[in-house]
Amino acid sequence: MTTRIVIIGGGPAGHSAATYGARLGADVVLIERDVLGGAAHIWDCIPSKAMIATGGALSFLARSEGMGLETVSPHIDLDNLRERLAGIEAKLTTSTTRVLEGQNVRIVNGTGKLVGPHTVVAVTDDGEEETFEADYIVLSTGSRPRIPDWAQVDGDRILTTRDAYPPRVLPEHLVVVGSGVTGVEFVHMFRSFGSEVSLLVSRQQVLPAKDPEVAAALESDFIRRGVNLLKGARGTGIERTENGVKVFAEDGRVTEGTHALLAIGSIPNSEGLGLEDVGVETEWGYVKVDHHCRSSLPHIYAAGDVSGKLPLSSVASMQGRKIAEHAMGMHDLPHRHLDYDKAASAIFTEPEIADVGLAEADAFAEGRKIRVTKVPFSVSAKALINDDPRGFVKIVSDPSTGVILGGSIVGRHAAELIAVLAVAVTASLTVNDIVESLLVHPTLAEVLAEAAE
Ligand SMILES: Cc1cc2nc3c(=O)[nH]c(=O)nc-3n(C[C@H](O)[C@H](O)[C@H](O)COP(=O)(O)OP(=O)(O)OC[C@H]3O[C@@H](n4cnc5c(N)ncnc54)[C@H](O)[C@@H]3O)c2cc1C
Repeated sequence: MTTRIVIIGGGPAGHSAATYGARLGADVVLIERDVLGGAAHIWDCIPSKAMIATGGALSFLARSEGMGLETVSPHIDLDNLRERLAGIEAKLTTSTTRVLEGQNVRIVNGTGKLVGPHTVVAVTDDGEEETFEADYIVLSTGSRPRIPDWAQVDGDRILTTRDAYPPRVLPEHLVVVGSGVTGVEFVHMFRSFGSEVSLLVSRQQVLPAKDPEVAAALESDFIRRGVNLLKGARGTGIERTENGVKVFAEDGRVTEGTHALLAIGSIPNSEGLGLEDVGVETEWGYVKVDHHCRSSLPHIYAAGDVSGKLPLSSVASMQGRKIAEHAMGMHDLPHRHLDYDKAASAIFTEPEIADVGLAEADAFAEGRKIRVTKVPFSVSAKALINDDPRGFVKIVSDPSTGVILGGSIVGRHAAELIAVLAVAVTASLTVNDIVESLLVHPTLAEVLAEAAE
């Protein structure tokens, strides 16, 4: 009999579980209440990176003199930017839908809910119900921005990241609360659009989870670009004023701006799914999962942000794929386990930041013996050609075997270049494997080979 898989939530996790499940021969139903592609396409990864790319074009043009051009001073055209975002979203939704339809996935537009261990009901917007029986169920309902009880988001002056798309106005002075990945990307984005930006950093370092050297590179760039960094300023309140906002910090500092943006994490979309009724365990709202993404009921899986693992689109997609393979009985094949420690991640600031695997600071904290090599992009001919010698490549390897354990890249195209180190970490390649590779000249990738020496 054909295996039946029902998936609730059509973001990267659900889409990937559906595509791979169908490809492996399952009968797949995907229930999505909003837009296929999920928050990743409409609010998170894609619009933010599209806006950052526009900001990048602006700052590139502002540096045009360094490229042997006359200086130009372009400015943001919000109507054009809105059209650009809508165009990208429409194209991605179409291609996502085509892939699913091409695999004969049944797409149901509605809100899904568990009504029994093997039964899911989808309720459409006009109240119609359809019931599905499943051998396996995948929960991939994502997450949404966390709003603290001290902030009243109004979508006008006090915003979450979701209120920033499409941008209605360009804030004169944006106060960003939260200096994790999302916070710093929004600082970078709006600063490159020309807004004055203040950033409340709750600790003494932006990106508190990152290598201090990497965080320091970003901080100095922010300071150079005139971002007002308030370190040790934990947000405790936001008040609307006649023409803007006042943001209060625990240490008594008050920052005035025209708009405030909250970037202080997310919470899972797990309420209303009927989890308690069927006995799926949660922790802080996240579905508790094992290394195969199985919940406390082994035929019900969770993937993506709702699983409480790494909140990255790339991880969500990989989880979805692993779930499909597991449900279809392929889990005994080699390389089927997902190792979150080997996930590459990037921060799309300027300079870009990307890392993978073991960080120098973590190895140091664990007392682990490592070899660290670091080469600045200023030695690279391509960086000079690009008129952008900022940043460096750092490789962490095992001193006795040369196996690459991790690495960080700060600089232009870091998010692309980290792919080389991600492959190396996943495949346990050695520094020699990189040194011996014949790379293209002149490229930024040559710095990777130098750092591997
Ligand atoms: C501003 C921002 C930028 C980001 N940028 C990046 C980036 O550059 N790279 C990266 O890797 N990650 C990025 N992320 C993280 C990334 O967006 C998430 O990790 C990713 O979207 C998680 O995918 P998902 O499938 O779990 O959930 P989602 O993408 O949130 O999709 C979940 C889907 O489930 C649907 N749903 C929810 N409940 C139900 C229900 N009951 N019935 C039916 N449907 C339901 C929702 O409508 C939604 O479509 C960013 C996050 C933010 C906030």
